[in-house]
Amino acid sequence: MTRYIFITGGVVSSLGKGLASAALGALLQARGYSVRLRKLDPYLNVDPGTMNPFEHGEVYVTDDGAETDLDLGHYERFTGVAARQSDNVTSGGIYQAIISRERRGDYLGGTVQVIPHVTNAIKDFILADAEEQEFVLCEIGGTVGDIEGLPFFEAIRQLGNELERDQAVFVHLTLIPFIGSAGELKTKPTQHSVKELRSIGIQPDVLLCRCDRPFPDKERRKIALYCNVREEAVIPALDVASIYEVPLRYHEQGMDEQVLRCFGIKDPPAPDLSTWQDIQPRIETPEGEVKIAVVGKYTGLKDAYKSLDEALGHGGIANNVRVGVEWIESETFEQEGTLHHLEGVNGILVPGGFGERGAEGKISAVRLARERRIPYFGICFGMQMAVIEAARNMAGIKGANSTEFGPCDEPVVGLMTEWEHEGWIERRDEGGDMGGTMRLGAYDCLVNPGSGVHQIYGSDKISERHRHRYEVNFRYENKLAEAGLVFSGRSPDGLLPEILEIPDHPWFFGVQFHPELKSKPFDPHPLFASFIKAAVDQSRLV
Ligand code: GLN
Repeated sequence: MTRYIFITGGVVSSLGKGLASAALGALLQARGYSVRLRKLDPYLNVDPGTMNPFEHGEVYVTDDGAETDLDLGHYERFTGVAARQSDNVTSGGIYQAIISRERRGDYLGGTVQVIPHVTNAIKDFILADAEEQEFVLCEIGGTVGDIEGLPFFEAIRQLGNELERDQAVFVHLTLIPFIGSAGELKTKPTQHSVKELRSIGIQPDVLLCRCDRPFPDKERRKIALYCNVREEAVIPALDVASIYEVPLRYHEQGMDEQVLRCFGIKDPPAPDLSTWQDIQPRIETPEGEVKIAVVGKYTGLKDAYKSLDEALGHGGIANNVRVGVEWIESETFEQEGTLHHLEGVNGILVPGGFGERGAEGKISAVRLARERRIPYFGICFGMQMAVIEAARNMAGIKGANSTEFGPCDEPVVGLMTEWEHEGWIERRDEGGDMGGTMRLGAYDCLVNPGSGVHQIYGSDKISERHRHRYEVNFRYENKLAEAGLVFSGRSPDGLLPEILEIPDHPWFFGVQFHPELKSKPFDPHPLFASFIKAAVDQSRLV
């Protein structure tokens, strides 16, 4: 029997529901249960793929090519379970499916309504493709009381009734604020949030209470009494220094035990938390520190580079160092005399990106990294910028540029009009739709034996996740190779360059894919581990 845990949020957003869900998933897994995590987002975009990163944060890409919410990245990093297309849905996606059915005539004769059509579609999504799991955790985006969230709350309310009594548990995440002027913790917002939830027919079983300080038993009793929740099921969720501490702290507070109790599981297998315990000293007391500059366009919002930030940290865990990241807006480097900002860093990374703004600043940062022999890591757009830089300054192709920014004389990066996907040829042209049409998801890549990247991966064939519309133009391969830039990985049909490196440089790699999406704290991605190692070596030189 698959059991369902519904995670909702109250009081304010940004309390870390995604992390809470991921950590609970990890704790159940530590007890030997199989888990799947899902996110239901009430907004009307069909998926976050077309949203500005400032609006929504990072778009997390799955192996099967879905553009999803960044919480799926947390789920995957905490549980190691690869997220799938069927793990994230939005109101937009639900409505799109219902409206196209309506147009086809599937409901002919009937009125199409939020209840039951929308709520049924939400329930189908929750229940689909879950038979093999012992636990499915479903996080509802937004906070209780949001108008657009109502159909989702209604759907999980119905499921609470339709599933067996011990098959669904409701966890509600709230905030217990400390009011400085009164010197007191306040439980009222939590009481109101639970009241709101109960008014739509959902009684939470477990309350997870975010608080910036330990709260006394008196408050715990009060919350339990007013919210109609058992006292032991009021779990304090205190602020922690590292997100990877969260599973351990939740466990100490009895979170997993309480959830299992609500399912009537009184004697569960003991948890093995060693993976989480083992990485703690490396996070808390690392032996050194390196400084990495990330030169990007959305640096004002860290969520825009969530997986990247985490993967750099994992590289630190692999090398037992703390990674200090300097987020630098690339447009800065478009003014004279600004590059000295980069002089003290031990590594430079240009991440994925879109559009012309700040591109020349990124190219200048690549040039500095190459000429000053500072470790350089170019991811997707960062690889494309490295090719433009190499073409202009190593191979003397002065007009080198990307057609992403408009027509140019030397298109070293151009629109990808066709590529192979699982035996099919995918085709695109200039005027096509923007949503869901990039080269998305996992593709194999063949790695040149003897190359630097071969050493890093220790393998001839790798699989990584992609999200791009442009590609490096192989017609320039020979000229670039003569200048010292080598393409050391390509698609299996040999047509798409996937990896470049400069052998005569301490560490200079560009990859067309997004390795940050697959890195885990307990299994750091080899490219990030190697990049941070190179940064450590570089820091010893200065
Ligand atoms: N804008 C570039 C492209 O579409 C790079 C995309 C990215 O960095 N993810 O090819």
